Order: sequence, then C-alpha cells, then structure tokens
Amino acid sequence: MNRRDFLREAALIGAAPFLGTNEVWAGVQAAPSVRLTGEDNKACHALRDGLLITPETPTEEAEVVIIGGGVSGLTAAWHLQDRVILVLEKNPTPGGNCRGETWKGIRYAQGSAYLSEPDERLAAFYKTIGLKLKEAPSPTSALHAKGKMILDHWGEGIADLPYPKWVIRSFKQARKDFKDLAKDPRAPTKIPVAKNHPEAFRYEKITFADYLGRYAPEVTEVLDLFTRSCWGVPTTRISAFAGINFMASEFSPIFVFPGGNEAVAEQLARPIRNSLRLRAFALRITQDENGVLVTYVSQRKVRSIRAKAAIIATPKHVALRMLPDLPKSWRASFSRMRYGAFLVCQVMSREVLYDQSYSLNCLAPPFVNISVADWTQKKPRKEQARPAVLTLDLPMGEAEGRRILLSNNITPLHKKTAAGLEKLFPGCTAAIEGYLYYRWGHPMVITAPNFWSRNGKALQRPWGRVSLAHSDAEGLPCMEAAIAAGKRAAEQVLRHLRKS
Ligand SMILES: Cc1cc2nc3c(=O)[nH]c(=O)nc-3n(C[C@H](O)[C@H](O)[C@H](O)COP(=O)(O)OP(=O)(O)OC[C@H]3O[C@@H](n4cnc5c(N)ncnc54)[C@H](O)[C@@H]3O)c2cc1C
Repeated sequence: MNRRDFLREAALIGAAPFLGTNEVWAGVQAAPSVRLTGEDNKACHALRDGLLITPETPTEEAEVVIIGGGVSGLTAAWHLQDRVILVLEKNPTPGGNCRGETWKGIRYAQGSAYLSEPDERLAAFYKTIGLKLKEAPSPTSALHAKGKMILDHWGEGIADLPYPKWVIRSFKQARKDFKDLAKDPRAPTKIPVAKNHPEAFRYEKITFADYLGRYAPEVTEVLDLFTRSCWGVPTTRISAFAGINFMASEFSPIFVFPGGNEAVAEQLARPIRNSLRLRAFALRITQDENGVLVTYVSQRKVRSIRAKAAIIATPKHVALRMLPDLPKSWRASFSRMRYGAFLVCQVMSREVLYDQSYSLNCLAPPFVNISVADWTQKKPRKEQARPAVLTLDLPMGEAEGRRILLSNNITPLHKKTAAGLEKLFPGCTAAIEGYLYYRWGHPMVITAPNFWSRNGKALQRPWGRVSLAHSDAEGLPCMEAAIAAGKRAAEQVLRHLRKS
C-alpha cells in the first residue's frame, strides 16, 4: 500500500456504514446465513507498517485533544467537559469495545456486556453521569459440564456439579477463599490497581494457574473458561493478581443493559457530543515546549491540531506507532504489552434456544460462554416461539488467533461452533436464522505475571504533555479499569493546565 492508498483507506473508515465495515462472507454458503464482520483494520495496519504522514500546519486549536472515543477516552472527556476539548475517534460511533446492535427488536452486545457491582465511589460516578443501574435477575450464571446443566454453579448449584465429592469440596473451598479474599484489604481486589495494598502485589509473581494449583484440576478447568472469556487466554497466561481481582466481583450482583455497556458510553458521550469528531483517525502526536501537535485523517484530508495537552486513549500498541519521539523506557514497556484476540458470534433464531440463566459457561470448545441477549429486556413471558439472540464468546488466543481472523476464513471454526450448539441444544439448527461473527483483533490486554512491576510506571505516568488513558494502563480489560484510566489521565492534564 502506498501513501495515497493509505489515505484512501483511512478515509474509507469514515465512508462506510458501521455495521458493514470490513464485512466479508465467511465462505459457508448453506442456510442459515453466516457472516463475519468487525472493525476495519486497514488504516491501523498501515499505521503499524510505517505509512506516516508529514504533519501539516495546524488549522485548529484546543486545550486538550483526546485520541480514542472508547470508555476511557469518553471518561477523560467527561471530566474535562468544561475545557476546550476535541475527541478524535476513528469509528463512526463512539464506545470502542462497547457496542450494541439490534436484531428484530432484540438489543445485543457485540463487545462489552455487563457491569460488576460498583464500590461506593464508582456507584456515585454512575449516578452523576445519569446511568441507572438495575440488578440483573438471577440466576446470572450456569455451567454445562459432562452433559449436565448446572444453574448458579458457584452458588446453590455447587453441590450438583457432576464431579466426585472431593472435587465438589474443592469448588466449595475455592468459593470460600475467593469470598474471603474479596474482603481482605491486603488482597488484589481494587481498581485502580495502584490503590491495592503493597502486599497484594505478591500475587503478581505467579500465574493464576499456579495459584489454583491448590484446588482440584476441575476448578482450573472451569476458571479457564472465565479467563478465556475475559482475556482471551487461559489461567496459565495471566497473573494470580489479575485472576483474583476479577474473581473478587464474581459472587456479587451484575448489571446488564439491553445492548450491553454501550449504555455507559452513551451516557458519557452525551455532554461532550459537540466535541466528538468521529471517523477521525489519529496518525501522529508530537510535542514541544509550546504544546502538542496532533495529525489525523478526517473526511479524506490530513489535518493538524495544536493543543496544550493530549490524552491517548488507544491501546498501547497503537499509541506506540503514533508517538515517534517516545523515550526508550516508555517504548520498551509499550512493546512488551500483549493482547488477546477474540471472536463474538451472535446466534439469531426464530425461537428461544436457551434462557435459563444470563450466561452459560461451556466446557465444550470452541465457545466458552453463551449469554442471553435480551435477559434484561422486556419480552413475552415464557413464550418460546419468539425471535432470540444468543451471544457466544470465542477466545482466539494471541498471534495464531489473529492469523485466523485476518484470513477471513472462519468456516472451520464456524462448523465447530454450529456442531457445539447442536450438541448442547439438540435440534436447534433448524430454528437458527443466522450466525453473525464479529472479530476483535487486539481488544484485551493480557495481564501476565509481573505486569505492573515491569510496566506500571511507564503506563500511567504522563510523558510531558501527553497523558495515557486506556484500560490497558490498568492492566485489566474491564469497564472499571477504563473509567479509572480515563479519570487519572484527566486529572494529570488538569494539573498541567493549571500550571501552564
Ligand atoms: C468482546 C468483549 C467483551 C467484553 N465484556 C466486558 C464485560 O462484560 N464487562 C466489562 O467490564 N468489560 C468487558 N470488556 C472489556 C471492556 O469493555 C473494555 O476494557 C473497555 O471498554 C475498554 O475501553 P477503553 O477506552 O480502554 O478502550 P477501547 O474500547 O479499546 O477504546 C479505544 C478507542 O480508540 C479508538 N482508536 C484506536 N486507534 C485510533 C486512532 N488511531 N485514532 C482515533 N481513534 C482510535 C478505537 O476505535 C476505540 O474506540 C469486554 C471487551 C470485549 C472486547
């Protein structure tokens, strides 16, 4: 691709309708329909491959430019709404990983799906932004193992797990330990991560799988489903710190909006709507003693804006390409970051295939979890002959998974998915109208052991006038981390603005 092609591709991000962006047929022709869609990656890959544009003379000015309109960027913008800000977002809608869509009146989440129970501080923030939390009805979880469905498998159903008694005892012990850890001030349970007790960081040194070694192997097997659903990788790839941190909220209520966490992004975006520039792809950020210069593509033109400060709310592997002058220590940390790849499959059916719990963990590959899209949406009570959507999580690991996603050929995986569903719900195929796959290239930061001890400072410290948001700066792929990272970056910038 040459520079002109790159500009055309980058501009096309803004020209294509969102749902159709980069949509390809997966190659499976038989009914029901099978489609693969996802974000357009061409411009991002061009940026990776060094097709940078020379900055033009700035034509605009702002106090703060925020790059990335995901939840972290929107949170930063929300805290800076009294300043002159501009948010550059490459997609035609804000929200990043939070994006909801509709099929036959059913709202479903293509990405981020539910919120964990907030602590007091976060609950107050949700209230301030006008987000109304309503607890999702129980049971919110279930497990399918050894041909058996167990509702509320960490709660009342624990005794019904299809395992020998000693294994069930081990599950009960694990549950007790996680609940105790959730209350232990020295355990790694807090977000922002810096708020954890210094002793909590001892859990950084080992993998979550190592920590789980004290229980029956079946406990690890079940929690592998959980970590693959949250990070895209198994318990062997993440630290005990990260695993315990996420498990701390697993036994509390959850909050689900129709269309998932897009509802959070919508609330955050509301007051800053006029400062959002969509279909604007940032290419380069430089700084000197007078301020920052941000170069971006919008409406097929390369533009530059000057500001007093910038916040980068994109993942670090993207930030790395936008910051040519980034000092070595930051560069080394950014380069070490790893991200899981992910595929989400919406199964659209003319009748209800499953609705006994909000989510169903499945030991049968390739999907690890199924969620009922309209769990909190008003629907005809007990009526089974109505359209329904199930959302399937298909973690893809790292590089190998990305290779499959980039090949645009998911036929082998689709066949396994369809066969897995048929095994779970015999006869379901006849009721399925379509499978819509959505690919996420690098959505989840992989929190490997020693993540914070090796990278922490460089991920959270501002570099001159450039502050870093994005949930990956917290090392945890969740909404709470995005909100914490956005708030921290906004505070850093406000301090800077007050000084200058
Ligand atoms: C499939 C999936 C399911 C999830 N489920 C849950 C869940 O149930 N609960 C939960 O708490 N968390 C969940 N998460 C994680 C959570 O949603 C994310 O951690 C959070 O939304 C990340 O927000 P962010 O702002 O840090 O990053 P992102 O959402 O990645 O936002 C980054 C933004 O930057 C934009 N951008 C990138 N490059 C450029 C550029 N060069 N110029 C301009 N813009 C650019 C992107 O388009 C994007 O909008 C899920 C994530 C995924 C992918």
